Amino acid sequence: MQDWPLRVMRLVDHAEREHGEGEIVTAWADGSVTRTNWRAVAHDARRMAQALEALGCRKGDRIATLAMNHSRHLSSWYGAAGMGGVLHTINPRLFPDQLEYIANHAEDRVLLYDHAFAPLVEAMKPRWTTIERYICFDPPANGVGDTGFMEWIGEQDGDYAWVEGDERDPVGLCYTSGTTGNPKGVLYEHRSTMLHTLAEAAPDIFNLSKQSVVLPIVPMFHANAWGVPWAAPMMGCKLVLSADYRPDTMCRLFREEKVTHSAGVPTIWLTMIDYLERSGDKLSDLKQVTIGGSAAPRAMIRWFLEHGIEVGHAWGMTETSPIGTCGSRPLGWENYSIDEKVEYISRQGRVPFGVELRTVDEDGNALPRDGKSSGNLQCRGPWVIRRYFKAEEDATDEDQWFDTGDVACLHPDGTMQITDRAKDVIKSGGEWISSIELENAAVGFAGVAEAAAIGIAHPKWDERPLLVVVRQEGCDICPDALRSHLATKVAKWWLPDAIEFVDELPHTATGKLSKKMLRERFSAYRFADADARLEELRR
Ligand code: ADP
Repeated sequence: MQDWPLRVMRLVDHAEREHGEGEIVTAWADGSVTRTNWRAVAHDARRMAQALEALGCRKGDRIATLAMNHSRHLSSWYGAAGMGGVLHTINPRLFPDQLEYIANHAEDRVLLYDHAFAPLVEAMKPRWTTIERYICFDPPANGVGDTGFMEWIGEQDGDYAWVEGDERDPVGLCYTSGTTGNPKGVLYEHRSTMLHTLAEAAPDIFNLSKQSVVLPIVPMFHANAWGVPWAAPMMGCKLVLSADYRPDTMCRLFREEKVTHSAGVPTIWLTMIDYLERSGDKLSDLKQVTIGGSAAPRAMIRWFLEHGIEVGHAWGMTETSPIGTCGSRPLGWENYSIDEKVEYISRQGRVPFGVELRTVDEDGNALPRDGKSSGNLQCRGPWVIRRYFKAEEDATDEDQWFDTGDVACLHPDGTMQITDRAKDVIKSGGEWISSIELENAAVGFAGVAEAAAIGIAHPKWDERPLLVVVRQEGCDICPDALRSHLATKVAKWWLPDAIEFVDELPHTATGKLSKKMLRERFSAYRFADADARLEELRR
């Protein structure tokens, strides 16, 4: 057979040849909507590769972006990769210290950014030591500031052949926020990206085809928008990108562009559902949503199913490119009741070909797939990390198992269920309480907009759960009624010792609940009876 290195430029070549007119729609932050297609994206990518070379950039150089989802950002991915560069997508929601660290650690040479982030970029310029050139994707009309993207590539003719090389060459770099220490860089290869892309489009995963209109709500800086900008050109999907995250703009786009597939974290879907409920707006063409990044609450899964929308519940992490598992359906699915469907989908899905999963106990012994034993979740495969960027040692054990930091249980039917992140489990009297299950039960109660369970130090039990709740606007919640509801969903000893109401919960840079910040906020918190119990123990 022939040599055909699995390099990502094959994707845009294919799209240009086979789906040249395939539409890419962008809703910009200023409210305007533009349309382009794969032929134009390929042309822009070639011109950008030329422009990078004109700057002196070479194979292996890191090219950074600080941008929301839009067609120029998309072209820049292929432009950077086409020149043999490594595309470093930076999350603009990170703190300045993290932004400083990652761009310097990555040794980025060029940064392309959205005008909306210009103040951030200006503030960071003195701290970024390796960036030689700044390009603005959407410069203001008055010509002030850095060169505009279209002007920059406009100097080139597009007569360019992609840089070739080994399929194991790096093509992308994403930093994970990490809970302790500095962020860590995950370096994607052409090959790992291509294998991940081939898997992603399958019916049991994102279920993409030529008939799909896909709008990834997940940002392009969050684990490559979960691979959608690579998979869309492979399948010839119509791609809809939105740099504007307001739910009304999103819903209008869903309607006007007839979006069939979408993907995002639960927090964003909560906002969308809330908006749809209030406005009476409908997402009539939407066939499937993929929910991942943190556990999809049962109430959310039910809402989608009741509105005729399939739910793919995916688990993964930056280190797994990101797909680890996704919700394929068992045989006879059509005979499942809605309750059974919700229960099945609330687990994090099954393992696709290309990923191996196992759970182990504290001594590293593999646990049975019995639906009962919870342990540390480990994985391996061609799109799973081996070593962090510039690290001295592998991030895996000698058998290539990567420890995910999640606690999970594998069921006999092949589904995987995340119990918690290892650092978020609540340890009460030597046993574990799943914060995810508690939150899941709480969001199922009328009037609860969002909920988080954290462990609070307790003199007798080590830790006991505190439930922190955000009410839906205009709703009053009786804590006793909420507790009674929880009692029907979880074991009695899991019930929170206290429920606190807050106006909002802290979120991470990728839109997930930040347990770390919440724990900090409640670090001095004591249960009302804690002192009395301590006294009792002392006696
Ligand atoms: P960050 O923590 O910076 O957002 P990642 O996006 O890589 O970084 O997060 C990966 C983690 O997100 C996983 O290890 C897991 O704890 C959590 N996660 C992802 N998907 C799910 C899911 N479907 N259910 C529960 N947890 C999930």
